[in-house]
Amino acid sequence: MNIETKFNVGDKVWGVTSDWGEKDIPCSDCHGKGGACIPDTNIFVRCETCSGSGETSKEVHRYYAVEERISDIVIRVDGNGTKMDYGYKKYIHHSTFISISEDEEGAWFEAARLSADDQAGELMPRRQATGG
Ligand SMILES: [Zn+2]
Repeated sequence: MNIETKFNVGDKVWGVTSDWGEKDIPCSDCHGKGGACIPDTNIFVRCETCSGSGETSKEVHRYYAVEERISDIVIRVDGNGTKMDYGYKKYIHHSTFISISEDEEGAWFEAARLSADDQAGELMPRRQATGG
């Protein structure tokens, strides 16, 4: 069997990856105000949900476009065809790109699309490549 891969181990690529993290959102109980005044008084009552900060945090799926070197390729061939997962950071932990491209703009566009489709998603700013 001879299988051609689009990318090879060691290639520098732009990929989209994701993880979970906390995102600050306006408190739904006080609508970001941190509390409310009792009507006809100057007494401000702090919101118990956010302790008066006006924000609470929520667990969200965060999407990144990252420049990495491919460390490994996992190939699966079955009746549905050939599937290739390009991974990076093989020796730290196996991570697979959600999508992969040669150009930076393509990866950012895909990361933005994925985070927009995911209602609890967030597009993260660029981070430094960790590969060599
Ligand atoms: Zn609140």
